[in-house]
Amino acid sequence: MSLQILDTCVNCDVCEPVCPNKAISLGEEYYVIDPALCTECVGHFDDPQCVEVCPVECIIVDTAHPESPDDLRLKYGRLMAAKS
Ligand code: SF4
Ligand code: SF4
Repeated sequence: MSLQILDTCVNCDVCEPVCPNKAISLGEEYYVIDPALCTECVGHFDDPQCVEVCPVECIIVDTAHPESPDDLRLKYGRLMAAKS
């Protein structure tokens, strides 16, 4: 599953630079996560880096985009292949 940012985001900017997939950007009112790019940090880190740094705990799993651990590993592989 990708993660999503709730509207309790305070636009502190600390999550955007820690995302290894560049999945986080400033949306119209607060930061957003592109579900096509978020792998829950699978392939890069053991834990979601954005969740680790968010001071207001407003990043949760996005149940609208269900993905298994295998799906996330495949997605990571596709993203890496697209980079090269
Ligand atoms: Fe980026 Fe990882 Fe957060 Fe997904 S979980 S948005 S890949 S930092
Ligand atoms: Fe919003 Fe949390 Fe990211 Fe800060 S770290 S911009 S509060 S989602």
